[in-house]
Amino acid sequence: MAYLELLVIVYGSCSRDPNDDDRFGPEQRRVEITLNPTFPDNAKTIVQRHKWLQGFLLRIAKDMKHNRNWRCEFCTKHARETNWMNTSWMHLPQPRVHCYVHSVCNAVTGPCSEQLRLASAEISRLTGMPPAELPQIPSKKGEKFPMSSSCAVCHNEADESRKNLKQCAKCELTRYCSVDCQRADWTRHKECCKTVKEVKWHWN
Ligand SMILES: [Zn+2]
Ligand SMILES: [Zn+2]
Ligand SMILES: [Zn+2]
Repeated sequence: MAYLELLVIVYGSCSRDPNDDDRFGPEQRRVEITLNPTFPDNAKTIVQRHKWLQGFLLRIAKDMKHNRNWRCEFCTKHARETNWMNTSWMHLPQPRVHCYVHSVCNAVTGPCSEQLRLASAEISRLTGMPPAELPQIPSKKGEKFPMSSSCAVCHNEADESRKNLKQCAKCELTRYCSVDCQRADWTRHKECCKTVKEVKWHWN
């Protein structure tokens, strides 16, 4: 069965000088998640596979976000949104996709969204790839996204709740405040959980 080699790298907030050019280099704190999802039978052509991938990434976005107390890369406030840049090699015999995920407090308005736009334009200039679409998940006017450090289901932002989050024992990624929340999410989460092959934290 044809499957996808998917690598998602979620970058940690910057504890050093935000103007340091090397802050997304090999030393940067990050988690590297390898997933091997199987293509569904109706995704045979490259176009069909790209379309399926878009849906898959939206379905696992929660798992890639709610797994640590991520901070905004620009101001170190609690992260609420993620920005994804993807590179794909779908035409290869073994299709591959790399996703680079950055955390921000607000990707739509304010100084950090402006910084994100500049960073995205710079990456696009360096790589020759079109700039990432900002933001990834369409937001309604004035909508506030849940903190990445809250439970993936109830999004409880109270300190007591966020202190006691437990990671899914199987994939060691997605965090929940209770067994009830974990159970309520299993129908959705299992698609991601079952395809996670490796989770590597690069943290110091
Ligand atoms: Zn910020
Ligand atoms: Zn919860
Ligand atoms: Zn899991």
